[in-house]
Amino acid sequence: MNTLSARGAAGLDVRGIGMTSQRTRDRMVQRLRDKGVTDERVLDAIATVPRHLFVDEALSSRAYDDDALPIGHGQTISQPHTVAMMTAAILEGADGRDRVLEIGTGSGYQTAVLAALVSQVYTVERIGPLLDRARKRLRGLAVRNVRFKHEDGNCGWPSEAPFDAAVVTACASHVPAALASQLAQGAPLVIPVRTASGQGLRLLTRSGEGWRRRDLGEVSFVPLLQGATS
Ligand code: SAH
Repeated sequence: MNTLSARGAAGLDVRGIGMTSQRTRDRMVQRLRDKGVTDERVLDAIATVPRHLFVDEALSSRAYDDDALPIGHGQTISQPHTVAMMTAAILEGADGRDRVLEIGTGSGYQTAVLAALVSQVYTVERIGPLLDRARKRLRGLAVRNVRFKHEDGNCGWPSEAPFDAAVVTACASHVPAALASQLAQGAPLVIPVRTASGQGLRLLTRSGEGWRRRDLGEVSFVPLLQGATS
């Protein structure tokens, strides 16, 4: 678990001014409450993580709108409401989580929110430059409980399995078998999947040989692709 100091190790200005200030972040948290997010642990983490440092400076005035934003390479930083829902879903019914796998590091924003709440995050990204940038950002914010891997996340992270929870931040056509097999019994998996009408966010929990499934609503993610690229 981690608390972000006002100034991270690399001297990034975590506090921000004006449109990137704590007050702006608190207003976003209030909007998330209004939209039905109730887990105070998640709301606290979102109030702490400086989302403006996860997007290009030109977009920082929009960093606290509840929108997905471009992060380069045709990818997007997830919408705060979606990050809140996914994080709350894997924490539900638990005091915390120990080892959490994330597929699709992207900007590292969801990674940072998870890192504030669980013991250790294992994050996998297929686009090398995005992973490098996310690693540098999190290092700059003195977030130390994250391990990074440049790989096709469809394979999970076999040498570190089993995981106590997993989050996939790109839309899949089906649940990758390797991922499913790397979850501990009872461990939740949150994953957006393609549906007849678009995309649906699913909370799947391993139960014996099968899965319990809960639908968390419609979402909009970039696709989960095959293979890694540098
Ligand atoms: N949670 C991220 C969302 C990034 S968008 C954030 O808040 O910034 C989804 C990410 O998933 C993209 O960076 C994309 O490159 C990555 N991705 C897509 N398919 C993947 C795969 N098979 N393995 C690993 N990462 C993948």
